[in-house]
Amino acid sequence: MTPSHPAKHFKDFDLDPRCLKVLRASKITEPTPIQQEAIPAVLTGRDLIATAQTGTGKTLAFALPGLTLLSRSRPGFNRMLVLLPTRELCVQVATVMTAYCKVLNLRCVPIYGGVGMHNQVQRLKKGCEVIVATPGRLLDHLTRKNIEFRNLQILIFDEADRMLDMGFLPDIRRIVKALPAKRQNLMFSATFAPALERLARDMTRNPGRITAGAISKPVDTVRQLVIPVRENDKPTMLVRLLKEENIDSCLIFLRTIRRTEKVGRALKGGRFKTAVIHGDLPQSQRQRALDGFRDGKYQVLVATDVAARGLDVDDVSHVINYDIPENADDYLHRIGRTARAEQEGDALTLVSPSDHAALATIEEALGYNIERRTYDGAPKILTLYRPPGTAAPQVQRKRRGRSLLRRR
Ligand code: AMP
Repeated sequence: MTPSHPAKHFKDFDLDPRCLKVLRASKITEPTPIQQEAIPAVLTGRDLIATAQTGTGKTLAFALPGLTLLSRSRPGFNRMLVLLPTRELCVQVATVMTAYCKVLNLRCVPIYGGVGMHNQVQRLKKGCEVIVATPGRLLDHLTRKNIEFRNLQILIFDEADRMLDMGFLPDIRRIVKALPAKRQNLMFSATFAPALERLARDMTRNPGRITAGAISKPVDTVRQLVIPVRENDKPTMLVRLLKEENIDSCLIFLRTIRRTEKVGRALKGGRFKTAVIHGDLPQSQRQRALDGFRDGKYQVLVATDVAARGLDVDDVSHVINYDIPENADDYLHRIGRTARAEQEGDALTLVSPSDHAALATIEEALGYNIERRTYDGAPKILTLYRPPGTAAPQVQRKRRGRSLLRRR
């Protein structure tokens, strides 16, 4: 996985040499665009607002310079706080941070809900420099005085748009009140809706602004396809795709927990190695599903949008939207699970006649029509987004006897 942009090396930045060793051991050689811009900016100690899509390497974009700054400043507990929306993202980011913390003699504690408080309290009592937390559980600890942030130097928002979507804004404002006013603020988000812009304005002082990649556009290496299908034919279509296209690792997204369970059961019955992940499952089961999928024990992970944001699962060759997402933002986050760090990936969206309006919304936001792949008997797609000043694109039909997904 070699990024294909101007070769600036990690050693060109003023990062702690111990971090460079871990990067080398992880075979991470060249900074991605967001890392090229964010690392020097964070190292100056200024506030930063960064528009960055998921899968672009943004965790290291804040972890490397942030931890370098911590390692150079006065010792003390709870000096860096990373706030993020979901438990899965919390575990994932804390795992990355821990690898670098270890070599810098720093400690990192993840704080998230859905598990008992006791272990977290014990770890907080022992003391650590870095806290990676979801807002709800962190606020619980703050209220119970299990934690205080007298020494806080750096506050980081990861996937800030998602935190606001999930209704965390009041929690975030309460947490921020408990922090020292003098601190460095870093905000990373794929989108900046007005409410987030307001929060960013309130929280930051004279921030640097960077944008890595196009705003709200999928990374180039994701190949997107729309597959028209009748609602009743979706199960058959899914099995056909999984079998005929030799799909090794696939994330399948559905709209509701009930449908996720149902499709999960059907695939397990069809002898696909399948795990299911959604918000109603206990944290331990969610983590097992995720770990099993990461380790290759499961070929398929069937998920609601809970799993879509921020998950870093390597080598997902395919994302299948069994249910079309309701808006472009969720679509981008879902398909951002494939083609991470500049690998290639396929994002397939099954579209039934009742999904046309949702598809039109997504295509309007993208500014183009997603390529259609049809098969015998597929329903006609009626709605097509027509970019201003262009003729309506043709819908392809009846690709008899050919792989639906063969690359051209
Ligand atoms: P993130 O956007 O932080 O979730 O990172 C997405 C994936 O890209 C993770 O698997 C990282 O390990 C990987 N990654 C991060 N930075 C680089 C880099 N500079 N070169 C190659 N892979 C990277």
